[in-house]
Amino acid sequence: MNSLNKVKKSPKTGSECVDDHIITMELIKRKARQSIIKKTSTLPKSMIDWVYENTHGGDVQRGPLRTSPSFILKSSKKLKEATMFLFFFRLEFKNFPDDGFSKNVINAYDRYKKFVSIFNQSNSSTITKINISEAWQIATFNIEKSLFLVKCQYCKSSKIYIVSEPFHACPVCKN
Ligand SMILES: [Zn+2]
Repeated sequence: MNSLNKVKKSPKTGSECVDDHIITMELIKRKARQSIIKKTSTLPKSMIDWVYENTHGGDVQRGPLRTSPSFILKSSKKLKEATMFLFFFRLEFKNFPDDGFSKNVINAYDRYKKFVSIFNQSNSSTITKINISEAWQIATFNIEKSLFLVKCQYCKSSKIYIVSEPFHACPVCKN
């Protein structure tokens, strides 16, 4: 079953704990915010901070997560890349439901980054507009049905429909 990895009531088995630690490490590697790492991890906050600092030589990002998906409308490039990520997330979610939400997000994020780097090769920039924490939130908003992937009625490209902001322009044809 695909879930948002809510805390399970029953004690975790050995292999579940190993899985959690692997996901924690993968999120730390990709510089996720502390509150996101905490959602998947059984490790105490101080341990997460310590591992993060030892991996990146700097502090983990703290603070609350975004409450609305409208941050993806900041620029048309950001909206395009959010659409790419959501496309890959839907593929992972559909094809690998047993992986669970966290793995689906991590794998979709890696596919998205790889796609952007191939796409941007000519202009030497491989910096993505969506970071792992934003990707996590886009996927969460999708599961919570706050945003969906739809087809633009004008150019037929995939585009994101945000329930609370239904009238934003298509990032491809601008309609
Ligand atoms: Zn369009």
